[in-house]
Amino acid sequence: MTSTQHPSPPAFTSADYRGRMDRVVRSAVEAGLAGVAVTPGPDLVWLTGYRPTAITERLTMLVLRPGQEPTLLVPVLERPDAESAEGASALTIMDWADGTDPYPVAAALLEQGHFGISDSAWALHLLGLQRQLPSTDYEPLTECLPMMRAVKDGNELARLAAAGAAADAAYGEIIGMPFAGRRETDVAADLAGLLRRFGHEQVDFTVVGSGPNGANPHHEAGSRVIERGDAVVLDFGGLMDGYGSDTTRTVCVGEPTPEIRKVHDVVRQAQQAAFEAVRPGVSCQEIDRVARAVITRAGFGEQFIHRTGHGIGVTTHEPPYMVEGEGQPLVPGMCFSIEPGIYLAGRFGVRIEDIVAVTDDGGQRLNNTDHGLAIVE
Ligand code: ZN
Ligand code: ZN
Ligand code: ZN
Repeated sequence: MTSTQHPSPPAFTSADYRGRMDRVVRSAVEAGLAGVAVTPGPDLVWLTGYRPTAITERLTMLVLRPGQEPTLLVPVLERPDAESAEGASALTIMDWADGTDPYPVAAALLEQGHFGISDSAWALHLLGLQRQLPSTDYEPLTECLPMMRAVKDGNELARLAAAGAAADAAYGEIIGMPFAGRRETDVAADLAGLLRRFGHEQVDFTVVGSGPNGANPHHEAGSRVIERGDAVVLDFGGLMDGYGSDTTRTVCVGEPTPEIRKVHDVVRQAQQAAFEAVRPGVSCQEIDRVARAVITRAGFGEQFIHRTGHGIGVTTHEPPYMVEGEGQPLVPGMCFSIEPGIYLAGRFGVRIEDIVAVTDDGGQRLNNTDHGLAIVE
């Protein structure tokens, strides 16, 4: 398959990274933190543009504190990579050499207090810091600053929209390809190829849940041969230019039964109602409640067994979560999925998912393929 060219988005600037780091310091102070410690992963990519080629036992850590220059501590052999990161000019870079102990150096950047730390920081590194600073304590960043990456700027929104359009193009192609008589894994491989062809550099998931497998929301794709009459859940996404896509459509192989049509219709109405509820100030849990109310009224409340949605950005699953108990109000620039589903154990499942961006007065879908039940061959 040949690759479809897509225009590269403008690069993020040093001012973009500086702005993100400044905002994080301000919200850390508001949250009562002395600062944040960030190890390689999505937070570091978002704050600095730095993505080490391998995440290893050698300590790499960004420290953000009020009154201190943003400082990235790296192994000396990785210094050239760090210096070429997109946001490097907004940083002070320090290094440590093999054979020396990096933890006293890192500890001098942190000092005393209560710090946010990347969820994915290795225990090795956290324990190394704790030995140096026994009275300093840490909290996972998704708990102390859950909305750190949640509000997207214009460039981020443009990348998310482009990733969504690429996923839509993949869906447009896959429904013209054969389903009956092929394994789920064959269709999943086609979907992965299409995502790459339309510009994704990374495929995160290609769920193909046919017939009874569609009733298990965690099913990826297996060796089951797809049959005529099957409902098939297609849920796929990944990263394009560093930003995520994630969309789901449920198709039917040949003529659907009245029951498949009915369940599909309920899910479609739930998705639409939740989308129409999106506007600034509405809480995340309200989006979940609106979708759930439609499904419960139709008698399928017990069969909608997951939250309604999740945020998306430099990862395909992140805060904010559209779930009961999440009182966070929506803010323009937040991006998340709305993906209600109904799962009839042993028979079939239906899910419809779009990514939605919060605008000044409502929501905008970043997936725009038809919500109707597509009939495939
Ligand atoms: Zn590109
Ligand atoms: Zn999905
Ligand atoms: Zn999703």
